[in-house]
Amino acid sequence: MSLATTSKTPLKSRDYKSKVPVVWCPGCGHHGVLKAIYDALAAAEVDPSKLACISGIGCSSRTPYFINSYKMHTLHGRAGAVATGTQLARPDLTVMVMGGDGDGFSIGGGHMPHMARKNVDMTYVLFDNGIYGLTKGQYSPTSRREMKSYTTPYGGPDDPLNPLLYMLTYGATYVAQGFAGKPGICAELIKGGLEHKGFSYVHIFSQCPSFNTLDTNDFYRSRIEMVPPDHDVTDLGSAMALARMGHYGSAPMGLLYKEERATLDERMQMIIDGTGGHAGYDKNMIINELRP
Ligand code: SF4
Ligand code: MG
Repeated sequence: MSLATTSKTPLKSRDYKSKVPVVWCPGCGHHGVLKAIYDALAAAEVDPSKLACISGIGCSSRTPYFINSYKMHTLHGRAGAVATGTQLARPDLTVMVMGGDGDGFSIGGGHMPHMARKNVDMTYVLFDNGIYGLTKGQYSPTSRREMKSYTTPYGGPDDPLNPLLYMLTYGATYVAQGFAGKPGICAELIKGGLEHKGFSYVHIFSQCPSFNTLDTNDFYRSRIEMVPPDHDVTDLGSAMALARMGHYGSAPMGLLYKEERATLDERMQMIIDGTGGHAGYDKNMIINELRP
């Protein structure tokens, strides 16, 4: 595998493009998200030879192919678990996950809370198009109730899941939302996630014109609203109120929440070093607690 090297710094966005042709449909929002990822990697000066991009299955899970990095295309819904292991084994790497709403919140839904609560040091970019695109149009956990699809020919019975509220509730330490039609803003949000030490969740609305005729580019554009400039990103309650608002009305775009908290690899290292883990524990206390 040929990766760009740091000898060429500063790298430009184009240096993060791989030679693999991008195969998404014309008009797919994912093109905008990919541009934002290239720009964010360049702006954050991520070394491609220290970058691991990990995905599950879905149209957006093809993203790592298009990036000049190391990569793993894993099982459906399991990217987060593989990324957690990657980060623990190689904390020197920048670890990213790219995937969709079905991969992340349905098939992979069991992993999401644990990446957040453990504060695994990675950046998770979720491309939300409210549909399963790769498998040609099934209702997803973020589909609107009125959506008619192959699996819901009369519309669905469920209200959509609220991803922002979900991630805030389980303790993600960086939570942001963007829209593929605004790649410049998405790039800033992803860059912020890459620079944040901890679990960064960046949710991006990204239209699927081939299979979701409800959530169009125009629909998302009319729905998004910038996070108010006076919003305090350290205030979890305010972030949750914004996230909840987005579930029913306009959707907030920008950084909702940011918190500094020890990461999983840092806490593991503290235990290994005996320098005291979380909540004032030290090695001897942990050993005593583990004794039968
Ligand atoms: Fe994009 Fe939908 Fe085409 Fe997949 S099926 S590439 S999500 S437009
Ligand atoms: Mg999807």
